Amino acid sequence: MQENHRQRLLEILDTCVVQMRTDDGNGAPLLAQCPDENEYASRLAEAGLSLSLRRRAAERRWAIERALKRLEAGEYGLCAECGEDIGQARLAANPTAVLCVLCQAELENRPRHGEDS
Ligand SMILES: [Zn+2]
Repeated sequence: MQENHRQRLLEILDTCVVQMRTDDGNGAPLLAQCPDENEYASRLAEAGLSLSLRRRAAERRWAIERALKRLEAGEYGLCAECGEDIGQARLAANPTAVLCVLCQAELENRPRHGEDS
């Protein structure tokens, strides 16, 4: 069972690495040779998009590495907040989940720090 989880996480990690690689080279070199301002602006927008994609891939990768560490520590599948079982269905849908459904809902309902003070 543990081995299945590890395999799945490693597979997802692989796709993230590939995404990050294919993203490389779409940034600065494109901007260096722009014929006019409009072209520059649209290329800048594209580069911004690829940056945010890259950031998302990096975050995902980080989440997977954290999940792998938790797997090694024997904590995978247990809620980081209350220690209860996260549940196989939730893990199947989201292999990097670290909170059970209840704690996740609580986290999302919690007011963010510094917003109205
Ligand atoms: Zn919990």
